[in-house]
Amino acid sequence: MSRRVDLRSDTVTQPTPAMREAMATAIVGDDGYGEDETVTALEHLYAQIVGKPAAVFVPSGVMANQIAIRILTKPGDLILAGHTQHMVSFEMGAAARNSGVQFALVDDTSGAFELSEVQQVLDGEYDHQPHVAMVSVENTHMPSGGTPWDLAALEKLAGSIGTRPIHMDGARLFNAVVATGTPAASYASSATTVMSCLSKGLCAPVGSVLAGPSELMDEARIERKRLGGAMRQAGIIAAAGLLGLSTMTDRLAEDHDKAQHLALAFAERFSESEYNPMSCQTNIVAFSHERARELVSLLEARGVVGDTIAPTRVRFVTHADVSDADVDFCIDAIRNFTWN
Ligand SMILES: *Cc1c(COP(=O)(O)O)cnc(C)c1O
Repeated sequence: MSRRVDLRSDTVTQPTPAMREAMATAIVGDDGYGEDETVTALEHLYAQIVGKPAAVFVPSGVMANQIAIRILTKPGDLILAGHTQHMVSFEMGAAARNSGVQFALVDDTSGAFELSEVQQVLDGEYDHQPHVAMVSVENTHMPSGGTPWDLAALEKLAGSIGTRPIHMDGARLFNAVVATGTPAASYASSATTVMSCLSKGLCAPVGSVLAGPSELMDEARIERKRLGGAMRQAGIIAAAGLLGLSTMTDRLAEDHDKAQHLALAFAERFSESEYNPMSCQTNIVAFSHERARELVSLLEARGVVGDTIAPTRVRFVTHADVSDADVDFCIDAIRNFTWN
């Protein structure tokens, strides 16, 4: 069979053999009664890593974001967020449907926000506009190419929004940690709530964790129940998440290294896109190209499988199941790419 390298997302990763073993032998109980030791251990470990008092295990990253919105806003409020964030563009309008909130959007082409633009949006409140109840940041910021937030920029943002809470969509927080050397707890200290996915680069099959102050996490448990996300012997999946958090974060550096090699090849072959390979700091190659869909489908025919994330934007994501030989194969296909 000819080679097929799946770079659509880091969500395609298979659980490791150690994870399957841990899942098979996990001590479990009914988490509805708070009796699943493995779930509790996972929640404690994540809370400790991000420096928050409590955490809640949830089925998905989308649910973590949606719960954060429900505990930090009231219907009719505004959420200040970047145009292209997951919460804004990739959750099927869930914030409106679940929480009755609207977004006040700022430019996030580079991943971060301009403070002057943020101030303009916040000041709308003095001109008969709705209250901005919370600010959402994405770290790493996926659509810009997995860009980690600069800690100083994040702290500046936090210092300029009054008492409003920040929710950090840290689906790929550990990619940011590995790329910048900034500890997860330092990033999270600017945020009231923070979530991370266990099912992406960390290779667990299912689940995300949301952390924050204890009273808010008590509310989060109620909202999780309302959304149908409370689980029973969930230690079976939490066991894999525990291994993801405790053993799989350092290896993300390998994904970053592979993405950098791909970024250089893409930038060279598709120079018309003006893609700067140095903008690829973690595991995501994303750039704009007028013929994005054609580019993706022609590369797929040659065994390099990516995706589009907007009509003219392509994305290729590295992960644990991409080998060095796979990267060489992809680079070859990119270099030899032709438009027919
Ligand atoms: C994947 C992702 C999510 C959602 O996670 P799911 O587990 O797929 O629901 C949220 N935010 C960002 C930035 C993501 O990349």
